[in-house]
Amino acid sequence: MKFRAAVLHRSHEPIVTEEVEAADLAPTDVLVRIGATSLCHTDLEVIEGQLAYPMPIVLGHEAAGTVERVGSAVAHPRPGDRVVLSWNPHCGHCFYCDHGQPILCETYLALGPKAVQFDGETKLSLRGAPLHHMMYIASFGEYCIVPAQSAVVVPKEIPFDRACLIGCGVMTGVGAATRVARIPYGAVVMVIGCGAVGLSAVQGARLAGAGAIVAVDLDDKKLALARELGATETVNASHGDPVAAVKALTRGRGADCILEAAGDPRAFRLSAEAVRPGGQIVWLGKVNVDREVAFRWGSLMGEKRIVRSSYGGARPRRDFPMLARAYLSGDLKLDPLISRRIRLDEINEGFAALKRGEIVRAVVMFD
Ligand SMILES: [Zn+2]
Ligand SMILES: [Zn+2]
Repeated sequence: MKFRAAVLHRSHEPIVTEEVEAADLAPTDVLVRIGATSLCHTDLEVIEGQLAYPMPIVLGHEAAGTVERVGSAVAHPRPGDRVVLSWNPHCGHCFYCDHGQPILCETYLALGPKAVQFDGETKLSLRGAPLHHMMYIASFGEYCIVPAQSAVVVPKEIPFDRACLIGCGVMTGVGAATRVARIPYGAVVMVIGCGAVGLSAVQGARLAGAGAIVAVDLDDKKLALARELGATETVNASHGDPVAAVKALTRGRGADCILEAAGDPRAFRLSAEAVRPGGQIVWLGKVNVDREVAFRWGSLMGEKRIVRSSYGGARPRRDFPMLARAYLSGDLKLDPLISRRIRLDEINEGFAALKRGEIVRAVVMFD
């Protein structure tokens, strides 16, 4: 079958929307008609050349849609199911899968840089040449082919544009608070960086029952959103002192837990300075893998626990339906994360706005 998808031919070049061809479904594949897919910073890293993937490639890894067809061996999901896509398929039988760390699955990590699907094949082609898949999904198109395990069924009541956010940024932020840090009731939490992941971390801290949530960013508009989503204090780090603010709340100790979602050396350093002795830090942001980040050694002293997490401890089939239900009950707010809704052929302007820091999420809508 043929459909329209947004193809990146080379980093630093505009994405081109064109007609691509999909392969027949393998027995364990499902074909998903995309309802909505959002623009994430990790896609931008590929466009900007910071993340090297084989080209041409179809980006997009935060998506929701409807199962259109399933391969011959697929019992679940079924055609017609509403699904949120997971970018962490895992084999279930390697060292890391056996040790309960599917995010480190050996097959997942080995095939990831090749930008193929989880069976080692590419499922898309363009004028006869293979097209690569971003993070086992490639959702910037009308359809995508994913392994059945990556298509996670959620309640039909959640609209696609909100559901898609659960697949990456929301899972990562909420999961950092609830699954990785396991924030205890009453804890003093600092969230550094108020993009989609950080704003979701604020909500995760709120859902966990944090006693105070200090949100830090450089943009007053994003800090206002953080307040709307549960932050009890906000600090604009371009003129305020986040360490002083959190110490004032804790008799000089520092935060019990820091959730970092800014991806900047200053944010990593701030996390170490602002956490109390014995506290914990979850780093979600990233810088270029070859870049060095320096710390004042004393800031690391005091039995501090530091974890770097990519997907907020996600177990998609456990967590995506739970997050969708939290949205439907009103506990988890997703609408404020959507800054604009765009069409597929407006994707380059969407990424330009994301790069300028003007938006939290732009969501590509399909009819
Ligand atoms: Zn993402
Ligand atoms: Zn595995």
